[in-house]
Amino acid sequence: MRLLLLAPPGAGKGTQGERLAAWSGARHIAAGDLLRAQARGDSALGREIAACQGRGDLVPDQIVLDVLTPAVVEAAAAGGYILDGFPRTLPQATAAAELAARLGVTLDAAIYLHAPDAVLTRRLLDRASQSGRSDDKADVIGHRLRVYAETTGPLVPYYTERGILVAVNADQPLDSVTADIQSRLSALPRPAP
Ligand code: ADP
Repeated sequence: MRLLLLAPPGAGKGTQGERLAAWSGARHIAAGDLLRAQARGDSALGREIAACQGRGDLVPDQIVLDVLTPAVVEAAAAGGYILDGFPRTLPQATAAAELAARLGVTLDAAIYLHAPDAVLTRRLLDRASQSGRSDDKADVIGHRLRVYAETTGPLVPYYTERGILVAVNADQPLDSVTADIQSRLSALPRPAP
């Protein structure tokens, strides 16, 4: 199975990504985690990534593609992927689609998890004390939601036009969101496991 989780900060894509990976056997690839791992390294690249993440800005497309492409290619060869947070801009989506087409491993579905901004903000503030993340602070959270709306929002019509968007209400308990995703995937023409 090859899936993309498309969702604003706080919608639960990390949790759902892990669950879907366990359910389907595909590998969970979390863009934010891979970038945070790079950011911990003592290098110019690491410092640039850390600065972008700390401000709640997106990391430049080329850096993201350099970090994510090897992981996606490896997961595709190993049987499938659940992409969490990548692609997140139209140029990333185009580059990812070209690569996937070349390798014959295009997306089965793009799962769009949506919830009202007030719900997302409350969840992010609730988890801020445990997450230890530099971007889980009230002012940065507001900025991340705006960046999402402006830059990642256009991926919703992009995948709708390609006929693979699956919209799921993320403003429900975690188990209900998981159940909704699984039932929608099971109903796709190409059956889920
Ligand atoms: P969230 O979706 O809650 O913001 P993530 O861990 O997915 O959490 O992303 C955190 C940060 O990592 C983003 O604000 C951004 O700086 C960076 N990032 C993650 N994925 C991408 C991407 N595909 N393109 C650019 N930046 C990204």
